[in-house]
Amino acid sequence: MPEVAEVIVDVPTMQTNTPYSYLIPATLTTPLLPGMRVIVPFGNGSRKVQGFVWRVHELVSTEHELKTIDSVMDLSPVLNQELMAMAEWLASTTYAFTISVLLTMLPNALKAAYEKWATPGEQLSTATRQRLFGDQSRLELTDKLPTAQFNELMSLYRKHAINVTYEVKSKGHAKLVTMVKPALPKADLEAAKSKLRVTAVKQADLLDHLMVQTEPVSQPALEKQLGVTSAVIKGAADKGWLTRYQTEVYRDPLSNAVVKTQPLKLNDAQQTAVAAICRATDEQQETTFLLEGVTGSGKTEVYLQAIANALEQGKNALMLVPEISLTPQIVGRVRGRFGKAVAVLHSGLSAGERFDEWRRIDRGEARVVVGARSAVFAPLTNIGVIIMDEEHEASYKQDDNPRYHARDVALWRSRYHHCPVVLGSATPSLESRARAQKNRYQRLLLPTRVNEQALPKVTIVDMTQELQQHAESTFSTPLMTAINDRLARGEQSLLMLNRRGFSSFVMCRDCGFVLKCPNCDISLTLHMDTHSMKCHYCGHEEPIPQVCPNCHSRHIRYYGTGTQKVEAELKQLLPNARILRMDVDTTRRKGAHERLLRQFGNHEADILLGTQMIAKGLDFPDVTLVGVLNADTALGMPDFRSSERTFQLLTQVSGRAGRAQKPGQVFIQTYNPDHYAIQLAKSQDYERFFVTEMKLRHQGNYPPYYFAVKLTASDVEERVAATAIHKIAAELQAGLSQHAIILGPTPSAIARVNKRYYYQLVIKYKQEPQLSALLFKLLNQAQKARKGLQIAIDNNPMSFM
Ligand code: ADP
Ligand code: ZN
Ligand code: ZN
Repeated sequence: MPEVAEVIVDVPTMQTNTPYSYLIPATLTTPLLPGMRVIVPFGNGSRKVQGFVWRVHELVSTEHELKTIDSVMDLSPVLNQELMAMAEWLASTTYAFTISVLLTMLPNALKAAYEKWATPGEQLSTATRQRLFGDQSRLELTDKLPTAQFNELMSLYRKHAINVTYEVKSKGHAKLVTMVKPALPKADLEAAKSKLRVTAVKQADLLDHLMVQTEPVSQPALEKQLGVTSAVIKGAADKGWLTRYQTEVYRDPLSNAVVKTQPLKLNDAQQTAVAAICRATDEQQETTFLLEGVTGSGKTEVYLQAIANALEQGKNALMLVPEISLTPQIVGRVRGRFGKAVAVLHSGLSAGERFDEWRRIDRGEARVVVGARSAVFAPLTNIGVIIMDEEHEASYKQDDNPRYHARDVALWRSRYHHCPVVLGSATPSLESRARAQKNRYQRLLLPTRVNEQALPKVTIVDMTQELQQHAESTFSTPLMTAINDRLARGEQSLLMLNRRGFSSFVMCRDCGFVLKCPNCDISLTLHMDTHSMKCHYCGHEEPIPQVCPNCHSRHIRYYGTGTQKVEAELKQLLPNARILRMDVDTTRRKGAHERLLRQFGNHEADILLGTQMIAKGLDFPDVTLVGVLNADTALGMPDFRSSERTFQLLTQVSGRAGRAQKPGQVFIQTYNPDHYAIQLAKSQDYERFFVTEMKLRHQGNYPPYYFAVKLTASDVEERVAATAIHKIAAELQAGLSQHAIILGPTPSAIARVNKRYYYQLVIKYKQEPQLSALLFKLLNQAQKARKGLQIAIDNNPMSFM
């Protein structure tokens, strides 16, 4: 009986969640499995597209004139059963097409630009080897191979008789180094040396070296060690003394010495938390724990011991962190405890490095996976515990298709593996805290700091008062005094400049003209390092204007307090202080972030001045002062989550002070000293904040009382986008119950990005059984309606803006 494969095809303009059916060619007798990729004909003519095998079934009589699969791309599934099962659910909850979900789960390295090679395995018989490989040591796997041959390879691969390796197509990305090793036995080198002229000192040195150093060394290192030029090495190679070859340098992203650590003796609260999590792991219960612990309460140690228990049970562990590059200390601690069993996945890795880690996980060599958002798709099996640190962080939500939240995926996996999830935070998201209130999550509390040290004393500085006393200083008198104290005592300070929704721009003093991006409705940001104006949305860049483009006045002024400007001001005020600056500009290069933190940790600076990136996860014992230079910028954002964000950020950054023996102190400079988010951050009273904020959310019909979906229409023509969103609004109005609330349609907060116009609406609802079907209908309609018109649907958006 012929078989049929249902295939999810990759056709960007004709996406659908329904698979297309294709006949499996008779030559393919090795069963195709879901999660394998195939090439299939699509549409009229000779178009060939990639797709994922979704299901396989026997041909039924109602199916006729099916096209046949062209070729197979993989010898085995690239997405395992669990991920395939998850894809359907994820597509439906994120209003995405299944293909975009599948592609998101796939590691980049498998998407393109990689060559796949089959090599003979130990089990392969000599005859088969001869027939398939001939004299070659390997065989490239391409979709050009005849299906019969591919079929045989597929079958052999499943019997482990052949192996597959992947290689980067363009070697340009790989870092290569020339290696040198002796080409002659010691006696011959000795002989060569005896024939040298006495003046050939360098060559003699080199020969001496080659006689003892028989292991390969890198040529640059050798040149440096012996003080010889590359010409000497080349000469030696020409004479046949040594061989040179190129090799790829593997960069271990976290190779910097990790200190092996032992489990700490837990305090009572930690003990209770660890016991509860371990019990859930041992009893295979899919409990969700909300680990609510003030900053410095030892949450990380709880994670580590919960992971250790899972490993002891023969299970694996997944740990998510907001952004790895911002939390190198945490990753170091996990590695310190579990060593080589840890795989780290993050965007700072090259595609190759990432892929190596992915395969270590796939092969079961790595048992603990630490990574940012997309690591939630790591092909880890037999999971015993899932940890999500700083669960409130916005970076867990992907703001592009598919718009998934890593927390939802983690919870899905916990149900699949029957294992607990631990959501950890000092300032949980309102959603999670509300679920704990309803006992959907189990709350675990770490109410005090580990060292019994009090939380730092927080002082609020009213900047409106300060401004009257001395105009235009970024630093208030109390903060300045405190910094000077620290300098005198040899302690360290963190100063945070909150730049969310805020940046430096250029304005004409005479006519008020602000330089804007020609493609987007947003002002250009001043970058002193490149001496240019840049658009943070589309990347447009232009020189800093000398005269106003509008009125030709020369009175151009720079506005906004950039970190560079603050650094200059601080240097002027404190000429003897050693200052490190950490922002997007100083951390752009790979490893720069870690280096700055290391320097600060080594006391090579007194003050670390930075943006929000210094608010998270830092644990330095000598930091006794934290200053927030401008607490208000996030408050000013017209969004329902702006208070929550402000409270979280201030609490988080305050928690960096006084973590060891010495007490900490915090100064928060603000123009809104009476705002509840700021007042409650002062008392670090999360519970009061939760209650206060929940009341306001209730009054305003906001999440978590209501669910929300944001819909955005965009097009290069404003009229098209606007018409589309109004039509959608009308359809929603007709299709939903009267209890649903629709906000808008309105132009988006940034109405034009990259020459496209954006219009949006937000649906707030409690129960709308029709909504999902309706949204998919709208999505499908838009796809057919007009080329270029895009509809984006964001379920549970992080903001309404
Ligand atoms: P959090 O993640 O809650 O902010 P950390 O896990 O960073 O807190 O812990 C703060 C500090 O306390 C760290 O330096 C950590 O090594 C230390 N610590 C944690 N638990 C213990 C313990 N049980 N005994 C001693 N020190 C601990
Ligand atoms: Zn732009
Ligand atoms: Zn002007």
